Amino acid sequence: MDKPPVRAYDGALVWLRRDLRADDHAALYHALTSARRVWCAFVFDTAILDALPRVDRRVEFIRDSLVGVDAELRALAASHGVDGGGLIVAHGRAADVLPALADALRVQAVYANHDDDPYAVDRDARVRGRLSEIGIALHTSKDHVIFERDEVLTQGGSPFSVFTPYRNAWLARLDPYYVRAYPVAKHASALAPRPPTPPSLAAGLAWAGVPALADLGFEPSNLHRLKLPSGAAGAAELLDDFLAERIHRYHETRDFPAVKGPSYLSTHLRFGTVSVRRLAREAWRRAQAGSRGAEVWLAELVWRDFYHQILHHHPHVVGHAFRPEYERIRWEHGRHADEQFAAWCDGRTGYPLVDAAMHQINQTGYMHNRLRMVVASFLTKDLGIDWRRGEAWFAEKLNDFDLAANNGGWQWAASTGCDAQPYFRIFNPVAQSRRFDPDARFIRRYLPALAKLPDKLIHAPWLARPADLAAAGVELGHDYPAPIVDHAQARERTLQRYAAARSRP
Ligand code: FAD
Repeated sequence: MDKPPVRAYDGALVWLRRDLRADDHAALYHALTSARRVWCAFVFDTAILDALPRVDRRVEFIRDSLVGVDAELRALAASHGVDGGGLIVAHGRAADVLPALADALRVQAVYANHDDDPYAVDRDARVRGRLSEIGIALHTSKDHVIFERDEVLTQGGSPFSVFTPYRNAWLARLDPYYVRAYPVAKHASALAPRPPTPPSLAAGLAWAGVPALADLGFEPSNLHRLKLPSGAAGAAELLDDFLAERIHRYHETRDFPAVKGPSYLSTHLRFGTVSVRRLAREAWRRAQAGSRGAEVWLAELVWRDFYHQILHHHPHVVGHAFRPEYERIRWEHGRHADEQFAAWCDGRTGYPLVDAAMHQINQTGYMHNRLRMVVASFLTKDLGIDWRRGEAWFAEKLNDFDLAANNGGWQWAASTGCDAQPYFRIFNPVAQSRRFDPDARFIRRYLPALAKLPDKLIHAPWLARPADLAAAGVELGHDYPAPIVDHAQARERTLQRYAAARSRP
């Protein structure tokens, strides 16, 4: 029989951040096995929220997911005979509110999972300082990735900056221990009932339970009309659907945006409504049994870890090229560049695949991975516009926005990153369109104005004869824009732009 844990603390608070679930949760497990009474809280951090527009799918996704966490916690507590369990939710600057909440609950320790984003590192340092002033410890653990920080290093002991050897070392290190679930339910007897009235905090507001979106100052988005169910239950639904069979064909389907190929789990991974250990376990087991699709999908989870360790070891990538020589690139500036950037943002470039992809992100907050590469290449290498402008647009729009992956993806496409594609590899947006959306199903979904153009003309409408355009009811410049740039000429300019940066001292 397992020995009961020796609980060092009387009370502990678990601070949820990008780990919005109650199952297989590192910080929750450590708190439950270390304290006799455990509360769980989430803080809507005004330091982040105040900068957002009042309609934001991510805020709504978080709020809806918290409703699920609250119910899970209540059920877990009830299953051990504890009534009145559940989540405490606060609203204010996390660096102020969290220590105030811990103080009000009179806990001796706060437990949280690592978050290596620069803002979070700074916030956590401040929280740790304030907590220590009032005699409360802050314990943090890995939860968001399989391997983090210094766990996978080269033989010489330095961080990897090339993906393939990193993946090989990652796979060599993987063993069942790293993908094992934290058995939260077994220790849930330590979950404490919520205080009868929510603590009153000078620094913000607190609720026993989850406030309405309006209480947070936000309005509903179109989230509920998208195929993105929230919370751990939503993640489980998407995962079951993906594991049923799609995972085995992932290697063949993943590049085609009109095909339901990938998992669509990125927003859940971002907010931790699913445990990455569960995903890696599922993929690894199938890969070991010979599934090529599962093997390729597991490698995508490795990319995710790769970019997180890059951000940890090279925080200068936020705002700067990973490779310093590419800080010298002279990007296009001025009114013309601004107009071209606006056309890219709005999906008005005249290149159908690029425009359809931009409509997808603007309408739904998702963009297929192949298309993220295509539009990022188009912005940086066809329009010569700084990758940081595209990165910021994605950060504003993506439901799954993740600083490490977004920065890594943009620097990969712009060839400024670690292990990026070489600068002279420039995607041809028409060739990409013909290859990855051959029957233009994706283009037609987002650009109905072009729907009647035949497959062989729709990828580059400006090459169609006037009679064919007229027959499809398309007037270029009226129903759909003429291309804003000539790809062949842009390609030459880009080669010169990068060569100049490389040769400049
Ligand atoms: P699947 O194909 O099912 O992959 C499973 C999971 O693996 C994803 O959910 C994701 O967590 C991870 N993953 C897959 N590809 C990558 C990758 N290249 N880098 C890191 N992790 C990966 N992903 C984000 O999660 N957030 C971002 O902000 C983001 N920005 C990107 C920007 C650009 C320019 C590019 C090229 C890629 C970006 N990606 C980002 C990576 C990738 O496009 C998305 O993770 C993927 O499209 C999400 O869809 P999915 O969940 O169906 O992925």
